Amino acid sequence: MLPPKKIKGRVGRKLELDSARLVQLIIGDLCWRGWVMQINVSQLLRSPIGSVRDYEVKQIIDVTGDGGSSLVQGKVRLMRTDRGILVKGVLATEVELTCSRCLSLFGCPLALDIEEEYFPTTDVVSGAPLPMPEEPGAFTIDEHHELDLTEAIRQCALLAIPMKPLCREDCAGLCPNCGHNLNLGVCNCLPQEADPRWSELSKLSKEKGTK
Ligand SMILES: [Zn+2]
Ligand SMILES: [Zn+2]
Repeated sequence: MLPPKKIKGRVGRKLELDSARLVQLIIGDLCWRGWVMQINVSQLLRSPIGSVRDYEVKQIIDVTGDGGSSLVQGKVRLMRTDRGILVKGVLATEVELTCSRCLSLFGCPLALDIEEEYFPTTDVVSGAPLPMPEEPGAFTIDEHHELDLTEAIRQCALLAIPMKPLCREDCAGLCPNCGHNLNLGVCNCLPQEADPRWSELSKLSKEKGTK
């Protein structure tokens, strides 16, 4: 237990920050190698190829880049490769999307299957700069040997977002006439024009009637 006075001071300092940053700071304060997006991999980079470390991820990030905040959580395994560090894991999050049928906002759960190799930019033993990886857009480990998962998570999430999101499989959509959300019940509009397959029949019956 920390002395109460200290806790009070910490909370006071954090109150001015937004909630995502607040969570990040609290998590950073409380956990070592715990719930993090930035992972220091200097030890793993010194380890033999094939060495692994497991981490728990639990953090709020702006997944879609539109100012939203989504809790991302799950587990990742980091493995030392001959070139760098391979990150593999499955993370879960939820993003707010607009339903393509009824246009209402809804929370869409996403499963993020992450598999990315990160390349060091600084030699962990000598501290000498290393050549940048040849692959365009490859993820790098910074000069402090910090591996940041945020961008990989964001890219993975953007790929996981459905092209035509639906608030639910059987979303009833909007009335084409008045725009009423039909998930909330029927509207007062008259039934739409009769099925065109019946039009020939009704023409026939009209002709009969005029004779
Ligand atoms: Zn809908
Ligand atoms: Zn209507």
